Amino acid sequence: MKFLDRVHLYEKPYQKEQLDKNGNPRKVWVFPLEFDDHSRPIENSEIEELFKVKFNKAQKLSNEELEDKANNLPDILGFREVTTVRNQRNPYVVAYTLRRANGVCELCEQSAPFNKDNGEPYLEVHHVKHLEDGGHDMTENAVALCPNCHRMMHSLNRKSDIDILILANKKKKI
Ligand SMILES: [Zn+2]
Ligand SMILES: [Zn+2]
Repeated sequence: MKFLDRVHLYEKPYQKEQLDKNGNPRKVWVFPLEFDDHSRPIENSEIEELFKVKFNKAQKLSNEELEDKANNLPDILGFREVTTVRNQRNPYVVAYTLRRANGVCELCEQSAPFNKDNGEPYLEVHHVKHLEDGGHDMTENAVALCPNCHRMMHSLNRKSDIDILILANKKKKI
């Protein structure tokens, strides 16, 4: 796999300002690394930024377009190795799954506990078969859950709940 390849510095390390979790600027060291084949890994902040841009775009697509993108672009961001290593999520799958759930948790079937700033219901996208266990980042493996159910799935992962989610997933379309 790519991340096991050798890397080297292609420029001198430098400092730059970055915002921390609370939005306060802090200085961080940047080590400009590239693989020996001269391809370059992508920074986390860039990945997050890219996700937001793609996710916003995804939300504007028609149902047909979104379904198409969500299911036919496993290599969505164009850097499959990085996505595998960092578990980067496919924004189209996230957008599709949230649209399909339509504000209702797919396990307890209750409405989302609150709305986000932009008015959209807050639900979290979960992979029925976890990505770490080889689950695919595809709509057929993704469900939208309220935070409580999401916690529960990660702490108990009961077979009976998994069955409900698989069924809910199969039954629904956007
Ligand atoms: Zn729930
Ligand atoms: Zn999850």
